[in-house]
Amino acid sequence: MLISGKEISAAVRAELLERTNKLKEKGRTPGLAVILVGEDPASKVYVNNKEKACFELGFYSEKYLLSENTSEEELLALIDRLNEEDKIHGILVQLPLPSHLNEKKVTERISPVKDVDCFHPVNIGKVLTGEGVFAPCTPAGVMEMLKFSGIDVAGKNAVVIGRSNIVGKPMAMLLLKENATVTICHSKTKDLKEHTSKADILIAAVGRANFVKADMVKEGAVVIDVGINRNEDGKLCGDVDFSEVSGKASYISPVPGGVGPMTITELMKNTLLSAEENLKNF
Ligand code: NDP
Repeated sequence: MLISGKEISAAVRAELLERTNKLKEKGRTPGLAVILVGEDPASKVYVNNKEKACFELGFYSEKYLLSENTSEEELLALIDRLNEEDKIHGILVQLPLPSHLNEKKVTERISPVKDVDCFHPVNIGKVLTGEGVFAPCTPAGVMEMLKFSGIDVAGKNAVVIGRSNIVGKPMAMLLLKENATVTICHSKTKDLKEHTSKADILIAAVGRANFVKADMVKEGAVVIDVGINRNEDGKLCGDVDFSEVSGKASYISPVPGGVGPMTITELMKNTLLSAEENLKNF
């Protein structure tokens, strides 16, 4: 069975639209500010997609396209202003930043209550303790895909390949919260296949084209592909060799059309949640 992030994302967005309209009736419009520094083409596409998603859901949106030479002081001053801005409930700085800007310092300047990417250590800490308002967008998108497909993760062996702060580690935490038995693998893991072939649920977040082959996957496993790569022909592909693994998995997500569309949807959900919380505390 194919797990279509495109379809699930559309269903989730329909629900978000309903909640947004209810919130607007109470006088609150969710507002998202997106900041892009520099000219990275992929980042420009992501920022435009985020703006489009805001428009479709009726959110208020602000987009800041700053020059490559923007100083750290200027960027931090903009974040400070947006932290105080009532119309803005979510602030996102598109990464990667040009090398003269300190990503850690910049992302930590965003107020935790407006940190809709869920990168701030306060929010990551809350993911760990299971009490956060926000969940990191990509892992939350994966959880939504599993839930929507009727896959119960409780008691299952879940293996995550990748331990980055934005995907692998929070992914493991969200699976653990839902009572999976979780293994995290990485580049220093000895005998990766030994681990992956025991996975009832396998999440690939490696960043290597077609890395996961059929002989690494258990018959009937659920396979979610987070990777976004280009193959040798320049075509978009995931971390999983779809043509091989789809014959063995019970459920599999494609690339494109899998986790990718879910990530922006979860960002919208976090922005809406932030606006809902803001109304509660008003
Ligand atoms: P990182 O490069 O930060 O992390 C990759 C992880 O894979 C690391 O933990 C690394 O291990 C591990 N790894 C690398 N090689 C191997 C190997 N041979 N065996 C086992 N583990 C290995 O990437 P991200 O987590 O940021 O992203 C992963 C992928 O997901 C990328 O393709 C990225 O483009 C995509 N992505 C997709 C999103 C979406 O919306 N769909 C959003 C974010 C990312 P180690 O830590 O030891 O180096």
